Amino acid sequence: MGSVKVGIVGAGFVGAAAANALVLRGIPTEIVLVDVDEARASSEAADIAHVTTFAAPVRVTSGSTVDLSGSSVVVMTAGSAQTPGQSRLDLVSRNAQIADSVVPEVFRHAPDALLLIATNPVDVMTSIAERHARVAGVPAGRVFGTGTMLDTARFRQIVAAMIGVDVTHVHAYVVGEHGDSEVLVWSSLDVAGRPLSEFASAMGGSFSVEDRSRVEDEVVHAAERIIQGKGATYYGVAAVIARAVEVILRDRRSILTVSATDAAYGCALSLPRLVSGSGIVRDLGVSMDAEERTRLERSAAVLREHIGSL
Ligand code: NAD
Repeated sequence: MGSVKVGIVGAGFVGAAAANALVLRGIPTEIVLVDVDEARASSEAADIAHVTTFAAPVRVTSGSTVDLSGSSVVVMTAGSAQTPGQSRLDLVSRNAQIADSVVPEVFRHAPDALLLIATNPVDVMTSIAERHARVAGVPAGRVFGTGTMLDTARFRQIVAAMIGVDVTHVHAYVVGEHGDSEVLVWSSLDVAGRPLSEFASAMGGSFSVEDRSRVEDEVVHAAERIIQGKGATYYGVAAVIARAVEVILRDRRSILTVSATDAAYGCALSLPRLVSGSGIVRDLGVSMDAEERTRLERSAAVLREHIGSL
């Protein structure tokens, strides 16, 4: 197999944890970390390179945006993160400036790469990156955000733990903003092909309205609570990034709740989408009840307001 290179711009908590997850899973053959803080990028690259002895033979280096050349995927994790009490949308103006300086450089040096955005607020950053992609002539679908992949993972994991079943049997999606207005789509959740209440009773239990509220609260406020305790979140999103990169590099045609602009909603937001080696190949939509549809409209309105204010 030839070299398969992944560039990561932003070697902070998220970028470094993503590089480490990629090495542990042996997904690319080469990773380059790029950061304005060159010392941080080079130290993270050296530290993560030592993991390769126990994982896969991945070449891990640091460099500048020129060194992104030849990347199949570039992951953008550069930018400020939330501090306790801040929402993701509070980061807009600072991170928009960073995206405006980083994204054109990515397309200049790695015009054939798919660009995956993880920087928050991820839907707004995705929208900015899509704008730069249009200017650079990069086709739609080759730029998208991690969106609600992490929220979807949390939703599935929490429900699976509550009903006592392997998470792979829980199919469910979080759509809309990766943030406070996101929507958990309960109406189409299934466990091994059965509605949740039916599956729960087959297990000899039940799933109450209170259980549902508890899940909503845990999913929507997960990041905020983790940040209260340890100052940042990174392992979960790192696994999300590794999964998205794997889907792209191995052309898996997986359904991921990534963020991209949807014409009907008029902004970038997350919906289940079919992702292959060439990026997003199809928007799939999701079956929702009337209340969920209204909440998704509201989430889109929040995002349109923030994207429009830039
Ligand atoms: P961090 O502060 O540890 O790292 C950010 C890095 O970006 C720093 O090393 C900084 O030097 C670098 N940087 C800033 N401007 C740059 C530029 N112009 N070019 C290159 N590098 C630049 O923050 P973190 O905890 O790693 O978080 C990074 C981003 O990821 C934040 O916006 C955070 O909110 C987001 N995040 C997203 C998710 C998700 O699910 N999408 C989850 C967690 C965190």
